[in-house]
Amino acid sequence: HLDITALEARYGTHTVLSGIDLSVGRGDVIGLIGPSGSGKSTILRVLMGLLPPASGSVKLDGETVDYANARELRRLRDRIAIVFQQYNLFQNMTVLQNVTITPIKIKKRPKAEVEEEAKALLAKVGLGDKLNAYPDQLSGGQQQRVAIARALALRPEILLLDEVTAALDPELVSEVLDSVRLLAREGMTMMIVSHEMGFIREVSSRVVFMANGRIVEEGPANVIFDAPTQTRTRDFVSKIL
Ligand code: ATP
Ligand code: MG
Repeated sequence: HLDITALEARYGTHTVLSGIDLSVGRGDVIGLIGPSGSGKSTILRVLMGLLPPASGSVKLDGETVDYANARELRRLRDRIAIVFQQYNLFQNMTVLQNVTITPIKIKKRPKAEVEEEAKALLAKVGLGDKLNAYPDQLSGGQQQRVAIARALALRPEILLLDEVTAALDPELVSEVLDSVRLLAREGMTMMIVSHEMGFIREVSSRVVFMANGRIVEEGPANVIFDAPTQTRTRDFVSKIL
């Protein structure tokens, strides 16, 4: 369980998040939407410890995360994984090696066990036949699915996805969304930033609408998309649908 309370974040003197309160329970799929620059990526960056919070707190299962403590940060990154728009695979490694390298080398888990799990994850994202391929032999959609399998191989409790389809050619978007949809169905806890509104609507247990570094409104997808209470939400939704 993740609890964000009164979170504030700044770049220099520029406040980019303020008064963020958000609670994410096991199995929740939070769809984060809002205009460009509203702070969606910044929330995910703060959660991962890539940007220290200026104030407020993040609690994991009731324990406050100390983002200044390197050991705690490492532990946090065992529990929360993130996939970005840029998949950043290791070009000189096969698909299987990309997925297994961190669990084996950094987490010191047994190679056979990690490989077996990685193969199952790759099969799940539809890449069971690409284990020995190199990233440059794959399409963008396939590479992004490797990146998702690589994140899952860390056995995270929460998966953060920041516009994972934004860099893909339109015809490759659905295969990546299919994989995310499957994870949602399996009960994976996720926070998903996406401009694919149809997908957000379908997959989210709750949708959070942000503007100007604040949460304007949150609720079930049908409320946020069909009957938002806030004018800002209504304006945004009417423009994108
Ligand atoms: P988009 O939909 O375009 O990805 P976003 O909602 O993810 O937008 P953020 O990237 O979180 O928005 O940005 C929030 C604010 O923080 C914006 O005003 C942006 O200009 C600012 N910002 C983001 N990254 C940096 C940075 N590295 N240095 C300074 N300001 C930044
Ligand atoms: Mg962003």
